[in-house]
Amino acid sequence: MKIGQRRSKQRELILEELKGLTCHPTADELYEMVRKRISNISLGTVYRNLELLAANGVILKIETGGKNRFDGTSAPHPHIRCIQCGKVDDVKQQIEAPPLDRLQARGYEVQGCCIEYFGLCPDCISSSH
Ligand SMILES: [Zn+2]
Ligand SMILES: [Zn+2]
Repeated sequence: MKIGQRRSKQRELILEELKGLTCHPTADELYEMVRKRISNISLGTVYRNLELLAANGVILKIETGGKNRFDGTSAPHPHIRCIQCGKVDDVKQQIEAPPLDRLQARGYEVQGCCIEYFGLCPDCISSSH
């Protein structure tokens, strides 16, 4: 199927672009970047593929209360979020493996893990002075 092939090619490029980033872009921000490589891609396609990749556990979706952000690293890791500009950064320290077996023993089906610190980023601190 030609259409199916084109779709998966687009998904590959979206994933590749996201994995090459250390910032945690929103779908709109990623769309602006992907558009430079695939000029005819639509924002809807980027949205759909990001949701699909996140649902399959390939990438992480970060729910921020505003626009969701996406992370090419799917293993659980802690984040720091700026409450002023919404920027999300990695804490850059591995967390211990979550106690999945204990939760499963209690009958839970674990679908994800989210550890988030919040505060002000250096840019927002310096611009408020
Ligand atoms: Zn900020
Ligand atoms: Zn991250």
